[in-house]
Order: sequence, then C-alpha cells, then structure tokens
Amino acid sequence: MSQWKDFVALVTGANKGLGLEIARQLGKLGIRVVIGSRDLGKGEQAAAKLKEEGVDARAVQLDVTSSDDIAALPAFFQNNYGRLDILVNNAGINVESESWRGSTAGNISSDSLRKTFDSNFFGAVAITQALLPLISASPAGRIVNHSSILGSLTLQADPKSPIYDTKPFGYDASKAALNAFTVHLAAELKPTKVKVNSAHPGWVKTDLGTDAAPMETPEGAQTAVTLATLPENGPTGGFFHAGNRLPW
Ligand code: NAP
Repeated sequence: MSQWKDFVALVTGANKGLGLEIARQLGKLGIRVVIGSRDLGKGEQAAAKLKEEGVDARAVQLDVTSSDDIAALPAFFQNNYGRLDILVNNAGINVESESWRGSTAGNISSDSLRKTFDSNFFGAVAITQALLPLISASPAGRIVNHSSILGSLTLQADPKSPIYDTKPFGYDASKAALNAFTVHLAAELKPTKVKVNSAHPGWVKTDLGTDAAPMETPEGAQTAVTLATLPENGPTGGFFHAGNRLPW
C-alpha cells in the first residue's frame, strides 16, 4: 500500500505545463491530486486525462488573483477530503518573456509589475495563508513555492553567473519575493511538521519556458515533486534544483 494513501495535494496552475506534470507525478505516487485552474473547463480536461492514467484527480476553479476563488478553497478541501497535505504554488506568469529587454528595471510599467506580482507572489501568499490551518493538521504538511533561478539575487548580482545577462525585472523580482516568503514562513513553521521550500525546475519546454528550453516537463517537475514529498528529516526553508541548493 502506498505510504501516501489518503494524502491530498493541490497544485495551482495545473491545467498544463509543469503544474500538470507535477500533479501527474504526485498522483502516480498514490496521492489524490487537485488541479487548480483559472479556467475550470481546462482543469477538468486535465483531470480527466490524469484519471485515464489511473490518477485520482479532480479540478477546482482557482484564479490565484481571485480573492473569491481563494476564500472558497478551505471549504472545498474540508468538504471533499477533510484534509490537505501538500500545496504546490506553481501558477506563474512572465509578462516580459517575449520582450523583457524592453521592460527592464529602468522602464517596466507599474501595470506589468503589479500584474506579475499579483500572480507570482500575492496569489501564492494568500492561498497558503487560507490553507495553512488544513496543511498544519497534516502528519506531513509540505508547501512548495515554484520559483526560478532568475529570482536568485546572489546570481543576478554576480557578473560570472550564467543568468547574469537574463534580467526580466518583474518576473525576477516576483520570484525573489516568493523566495522571501519561503524563508519567512519556513522559520515561522519550524516548530511544526510543515516544511516550506522553493523549487527551480530548470529551463523547461512549456508555454512559459518556450520551445528553446532544453528540458522536458517530466524532468522539470521532479524538483517540486521531491520537495512536496520530503521525509520528516528533509530540509525546510531552502531553495533547490535537482537536489542541489541554490543561493538566495
Ligand atoms: P505555463 O506552461 O505557461 O503554465 C503556467 C500555468 O500557470 C498555467 O496553468 C496557467 O494557466 C497558470 N496561471 C497563470 N496565471 C494564473 C492565474 N492568475 N491563476 C491561475 N493559474 C494561472 O508555464 P510553466 O513553465 O509550466 O510554469 C509553471 C511555473 O514554473 C511558473 O511559476 C514558472 O514561473 C515556473 N518556472 C518555469 C520555468 C520554465 O522554464 N518553464 C523555469 C523556472 C520557473 P492558463 O493556462 O489559464 O494560462
């Protein structure tokens, strides 16, 4: 019998891309997965696909920028499962992906910056806070914030680092803020069983990562899945890629 029997996971932005693959891999471990999707129809299609593969999956309406959708989450999990063990804050956007050289720190519009922070930072914080009572009641609560190496201030500041020349400001700042949330929440929850970590998936072929990326989603999902299923003696408050720590 799976050690994850009865466990329940929510993956935000899981109708496609890395989120869908993370849901698939958690589901294959025997975890019941809930696909957060801002378009419920797309979420239900994704859940149906996973069900065909033997995964216990369902969808929930979740625009991470909608306070109504977020407010409805605790009752959804309480009523349908009576628990929530794993939260993967995966939903994210990069409004600058096509043209970040035209929207640098010196000239990005406040609108673009706010839009990016709403999805990549404020949404994750609000969802986590809403679900924390349920996750805290789990025997092994795990929170994974899907970040990016581009949010590493240490590497962004190092002219020798491989990402030094890639500076979409809104995206990078939102992921640095998300990393700050990881550090602060992990410290706050240190006396509890809940572990909180940031994941960098690698550069992965998705709509966000583009076809130019070298990695496929099954490999890219692995860092988040590992952090979502850490054993009791696993780390908390870290930033990881493929088993290695990244600098903040
Ligand atoms: P993707 O294929 O574009 O998928 C992004 C997902 O987020 C989609 O399901 C999208 O939903 C959802 N989303 C966006 N805004 C949302 C909102 N307001 N509410 C709910 N869902 C929302 O991108 P991905 O590459 O899988 O990215 C997943 C995560 O990995 C992101 O946080 C990204 O920053 C991170 N990441 C990716 C890479 C990479 O190389 N791919 C590298 C580093 C980090 P819709 O389908 O409705 O748009």
